[in-house]
Amino acid sequence: MHKGFQHAEGTFGVVPATRTAPAARPRATAPVNASRITRPVQQRLVLAVIYAGGLAVLGLWWKDTTAVHNLGDILTNAGRISGLLAAYGFVVLVGLMARLPPLERGVGADRLARWHAMGGRYVITLVTGHVLFITWGYAVTAHQSVTKQAATFLTSYPDMLSATVAFLLLLLIAAISARAARRMLPYEAWYYAHLLTYASIALAFSHQLSTGASFVDNQAARVFWTLMYAVVAGLILWYRFVTPLRMFARHRFTVVGVHEETPGVVSVYIGGRDIDKMRVEPGQFFRWRFLSRELFWGSHPYSLSALPRPDMVRITVKARGHHSGSMAHLRPGTKVIAEGPYGAFTPSLSGRRVLMIAGGVGITPIRAMFAGLPRRMSEGVVLIYRASHPREIVFRRELDQIAADRNATLHYIIGSRARLGYDPLAPEEISAMVPGLHRYEAYVCGPNGMSEAAIESLLALGVKRRHIHHETFDF
Ligand SMILES: Cc1cc2nc3c(=O)[nH]c(=O)nc-3n(C[C@H](O)[C@H](O)[C@H](O)COP(=O)(O)OP(=O)(O)OC[C@H]3O[C@@H](n4cnc5c(N)ncnc54)[C@H](O)[C@@H]3O)c2cc1C
Repeated sequence: MHKGFQHAEGTFGVVPATRTAPAARPRATAPVNASRITRPVQQRLVLAVIYAGGLAVLGLWWKDTTAVHNLGDILTNAGRISGLLAAYGFVVLVGLMARLPPLERGVGADRLARWHAMGGRYVITLVTGHVLFITWGYAVTAHQSVTKQAATFLTSYPDMLSATVAFLLLLLIAAISARAARRMLPYEAWYYAHLLTYASIALAFSHQLSTGASFVDNQAARVFWTLMYAVVAGLILWYRFVTPLRMFARHRFTVVGVHEETPGVVSVYIGGRDIDKMRVEPGQFFRWRFLSRELFWGSHPYSLSALPRPDMVRITVKARGHHSGSMAHLRPGTKVIAEGPYGAFTPSLSGRRVLMIAGGVGITPIRAMFAGLPRRMSEGVVLIYRASHPREIVFRRELDQIAADRNATLHYIIGSRARLGYDPLAPEEISAMVPGLHRYEAYVCGPNGMSEAAIESLLALGVKRRHIHHETFDF
């Protein structure tokens, strides 16, 4: 346990008045931030491992490549390289989403999701290149048309039919994932269609070993490649399926009560056993699957909005769509499967002062951090809470109490920019509220537009990017 964080809260400020919440037990000990290396270093390390794997794949291609003489050879080799890199890319993409705790903590779920989305575009391009170049290259070498060569592949080469189905499936997934199409689909529909990628990867696997020039006569490469796929499949099974069920068996998460904080925003109190044994840091989130008939199918991320107690946690949710909008109707006793804790948006305890900027429901992780910062930091803690209307301020009483307890500075900035007549997050406004900004570590969470404006101002004021931490609620 890290000594830096304050002990967890005995109550969360407002315990649901209408439903019974378990009595406060002895307080949980502090959440942990055990990481010694800073997150940018961890991120670079992960990228270095990914690039090193890419180089090893190129080495595999090089080893089995004889002299390149003509156009057919050039095209075929372009197809081989792109195919090998794409096959490796799939392993990386799936690995990034395997919910591996070191990645989730060290890199952060939002960054992993961004890498996954960006990598996905490269991999689709590589697969398409592979299909085109290989077919064209073989056609040139065999002195026949590309269509005839494609037919030869389908009829005479092992596992090519399943590989073709895999490619078509991938194109479909790519079309569904395109931004315009994604905007039109409910998140859940997009998500489950996206899972077809696993089927596509499985269908394409065997043709790599049975027709890939790097594998046909290389038993060691075949074993290594199969192991690489098997390990990632094992990680997915373990962390995405087995771990949440084990957590459920161990902690028995159950909805205890729901409390309306402000119109459209509710806090859900979730009871459980031995929550203090989990390594939860303030600012982190879980993926929650509520086992009610209508919510069973979706697992959604929500941050803890208070430090956990040994017997209860709290999330606070703004109604935005189907899932978040249903939170207000959750019944006490509903069982919950929780996956986590995830996220790298946690106080780094670097010894620097702390500036937190929250907007709207982005206050949730920041509320937990505000309560969890070590007391010795009292004087160097500033929270700026931005909302367009007084009714959007969540946790006002709790925040005032925490600020008073620890002698921290709390600024509420309420009203639209038009109404205020100025931009309250412009550099000159922030520096007036927080003198000596260069001594601060900044944490920003709120609507994307607000967060971007705040980050730009901080950068303009000379705060280094590595001292600015940002959580987005949109993956
Ligand atoms: C790390 C993180 C922490 C969050 N913490 C909170 C919080 O404390 N309080 C709060 O009110 N909201 C939080 N959110 C946002 C919350 O997850 C979404 O508002 C909610 O999932 C929307 O689902 P919906 O069905 O209500 O709306 P939809 O209309 O289906 O979705 C609206 C948008 O929410 C995002 N979203 C939806 N489902 C998921 C999902 N399963 N995984 C990732 N993104 C999804 C997508 O960008 C989508 O476009 C958090 C999001 C993230 C990524």
